[in-house]
Amino acid sequence: MTENLNATVYRDDDADVSTLEDTTVAVLGFGSQGHAHAQNLADSGVDVIVGLPEGNPDRPAAEDAGLPVETPADAAAAADVVSVLVPDTIQPAVYDEIAEELDAGDTIQFAHGFNIHYGQIEPPEDVNVTMVAPKSPGHLVRRTYENGEGVPGLVAVEQDATGDAFDRALAYAKAIGCTRAGVIETTFAEETETDLFGEQAVLCGGVTAMMKAGYDTLVEAGYSEEMAYFEVMNEMKLIVDLIYEGGLSGMWDSVSDTAEYGGLTRGEYVIDEEAKAGMEQILEEVQDGTFAREWITENQTNRPSYKQLHDAEADHDIERVGADLRELFSWAEE
Ligand code: NAP
Ligand code: MG
Repeated sequence: MTENLNATVYRDDDADVSTLEDTTVAVLGFGSQGHAHAQNLADSGVDVIVGLPEGNPDRPAAEDAGLPVETPADAAAAADVVSVLVPDTIQPAVYDEIAEELDAGDTIQFAHGFNIHYGQIEPPEDVNVTMVAPKSPGHLVRRTYENGEGVPGLVAVEQDATGDAFDRALAYAKAIGCTRAGVIETTFAEETETDLFGEQAVLCGGVTAMMKAGYDTLVEAGYSEEMAYFEVMNEMKLIVDLIYEGGLSGMWDSVSDTAEYGGLTRGEYVIDEEAKAGMEQILEEVQDGTFAREWITENQTNRPSYKQLHDAEADHDIERVGADLRELFSWAEE
């Protein structure tokens, strides 16, 4: 346990990979998370079968990694733990292919809680339902493991049929390297709702909306598109890197006093009570399932709004200006 944190942090000493000694894990999917979990588990001595449909383009990569590859149904049939690492939107369809193969005492394991939390997948009661969610993209899960390190992760148990589902999940977390960095216990509800809220209100939705509004404000006032791009988009990375390293104070210490005074006095012109009310609305729609129902319907109807929004975003002026400028300054990369 690490002191001064509300949540318990589990480390290597708290987990025992031998819990998975006589266990075969079917890893469904060999994308970002799948390739990392499958190879880390195998390197930790766990029996792994990768589950991918016949002809799937990721099959050669799994075979090259020396792993046995079967169809999802065959992999699940041979396994005691089925790790569902296919895209969230197709998990319900893949679940239908493997549902029959889940025997009493088996475990179905996820890296994100959406489909369980919103009832899109309903495993039988005699099966463990667990989550081990690395807080990073899969390539880092793999690369850090190979370096003897790990990325932090979350662990949760939605359903404990065997009485030791948590210990098994922790063993899985250790086998993929997460307990080297630290694993925090959460619930499917908390992981899903905070994840959706974060990406909508702040990370993906909030940040891009703020950049576009800032860009439009400058360009509409007659400033050049290039200056607008640099001031509201390009420099974001520098500021976020400082916050990542040293928190808000570390960032304020690194920028000028003018930037600090201006930021501290003016930031709330933008993110004011009304913006906060917008965030509360986002959270409400996440909690009451409004967002989930909307997104599930989108996916069942060939994504009409998604496609339109996706194309409109790519058409925003800041994208054209940014692409040209990044080309010009590509020497600055790496
Ligand atoms: P991904 O990179 O898109 O990989 C999905 C994999 O599933 C690919 O190998 C894909 O093959 C395969 N696949 C597609 N259809 C399939 C089917 N019908 N049967 C079996 N396999 C199929 O997905 P991901 O980002 O790893 O996400 C997997 C899970 O991890 C999700 O629950 C996600 O929320 C979670 N997660 C992701 C991250 C992250 O940073 N990426 C972080 C934490 C948690 P194709 O190449 O043919 O599509
Ligand atoms: Mg892929």
